[in-house]
Amino acid sequence: MKSAERPTTAAFGFHDRIQIGVTAFGRGVFASCDYQPGDVVVNFEAKFVSEATRYTIQIDAKCHLNTEGNPGSLLNHSCAPNCAFDPQNLVLIAKKKIKTGEELTFDYLTTEWEMSSPFECMCQSPECVGTVRGMKFATLKALEFPTNPLECESSSQPD
Ligand SMILES: [Zn+2]
Repeated sequence: MKSAERPTTAAFGFHDRIQIGVTAFGRGVFASCDYQPGDVVVNFEAKFVSEATRYTIQIDAKCHLNTEGNPGSLLNHSCAPNCAFDPQNLVLIAKKKIKTGEELTFDYLTTEWEMSSPFECMCQSPECVGTVRGMKFATLKALEFPTNPLECESSSQPD
């Protein structure tokens, strides 16, 4: 499913597409089916708050999407994620092919300027930034990563 075909939040049928599971570090969200790059994995209701919490995704300077009550609020961070957040459509999309049972992650630094709850990343990827505090504190190394979800594999069209 492409983001243009975004399902309505009333038809949240995502328990057949994602499920909550347990990781080595707490709860996480896992794929219940296979995804292709660009597929919508989670869609969020348009509920906004002005302050960041541990359940918000930053949309702009003073606007944060409140994901409380959505299983997507349990998505873990990875510095080498398989998903990306699309702030225009309020959806999480697959960045790469994802197999059933894989944990779904996105890079919090692609959305958060200053985290309300900084933490030590345990993703163990070679690209790991260590302490995840927000893009405000990012190193040049972190800035090398693409932050635009439209840069995912499926959308690379030759000119
Ligand atoms: Zn990491």
